[in-house]
Amino acid sequence: MSDDISRAGQALATVAVTAGRPPAAANQPMNVPVVLTSTYTASDFAHQPGDLGYGRWGNPTWTALEDAVGALEGGAALSFGSGMAAISAVLNLVPLGGTVVIPDVPYSGTAQLSAELAAAGRLSVRAVPAADTEVVIQALEGADLVILESPTNPMMDVSDLATIIAAAREKGVLSAVDNTFATPLLQQPLSLGAHLVVHSATKYLSGHSDVLLGIVVAQTGDPDGLLTRLHGHRTINGAIPGPMEAWLALRGLRTLALRVDRASANAAELARRLSDHPSVTQVRYPGLTSHPGHELAKRQMRGFGAMLSFELDGNAEATEKVCAATQLWVHTTSLGGVESSLERRRRHGGESTLVPETLIRLSTGIEDVEDLWADLLQALESAS
Ligand SMILES: *Cc1c(COP(=O)(O)O)cnc(C)c1O
Repeated sequence: MSDDISRAGQALATVAVTAGRPPAAANQPMNVPVVLTSTYTASDFAHQPGDLGYGRWGNPTWTALEDAVGALEGGAALSFGSGMAAISAVLNLVPLGGTVVIPDVPYSGTAQLSAELAAAGRLSVRAVPAADTEVVIQALEGADLVILESPTNPMMDVSDLATIIAAAREKGVLSAVDNTFATPLLQQPLSLGAHLVVHSATKYLSGHSDVLLGIVVAQTGDPDGLLTRLHGHRTINGAIPGPMEAWLALRGLRTLALRVDRASANAAELARRLSDHPSVTQVRYPGLTSHPGHELAKRQMRGFGAMLSFELDGNAEATEKVCAATQLWVHTTSLGGVESSLERRRRHGGESTLVPETLIRLSTGIEDVEDLWADLLQALESAS
């Protein structure tokens, strides 16, 4: 969260490569190193974001990552130990007894954590169909925070971010957008007025399935004081990333534009081919004209991303068989890595029952699209 150089005019693909580097100086490393230390000498103890002093308050490797993600999202970033640590910190902004509005099928961890907080009497939850703008706006009345996700995980619903965020601002409701699926390259919610953006940096930002990390990004200059509050929460709850993880995430971030481009192109092609497959009843991908949020996604996003879901003509057992039959696609949870992976989401007890039993979520990687298709085809055939 140190001073950011203005990057006006540079494409995000360039920013992903250049942001978060120290200024050039004679014989200094070009990249920020992994700073492994629990404490700092000659500290000043102001306890402000960006201050060092003790390892739980700040770390130069985190700062480099935060600078880079902040530059990409167009705001000021704070890193956390995981996406859930970031979401937990955001939920903690809700006053005691306050109300949070969430999608009826959000990321399962978001649903479970808010349900747990509701059961403990900490806050109440209003779950709304994320693609129904009117219903979402009605639910904002008297609420304290709305958490949006677009597209949603794993239903791929698209929310009208600009309209909902504007309504939230008018009603004095904080808005946070989980931008994990889109990445800042395809969608920048802060530019639409969102108070906060949240990432599971575990996914696309890091991109290699070897790190857990979370990020929250607030508006530049922290006009609402949210980043300072979140920093206080991170410090006292100890929800900090490891320096090694921050370094790996920054390394992964350098290729974000290449990875997102290639993986999105693969996803678009596979969505089209799956739509024509006789064993597939529905494909959920905002890039398809058949998707109810297609026109909205076209306006709101610079591309449709690399995530998609489809439903199999069959039952849960047949769907499991398809997942077990792939060789190239890794049957695993998580997403956003260079490798393609797939999962029947309902195999998790914690997944919403609104998610069909036969839904398979695909995280398309950067492999050759013909190899990906051949493997999907043989898996679909072996199970039918
Ligand atoms: C994975 C994920 C999270 C949680 O992130 P972790 O890094 O696993 O804690 C939150 N939101 C979305 C959309 C995710 O996919």
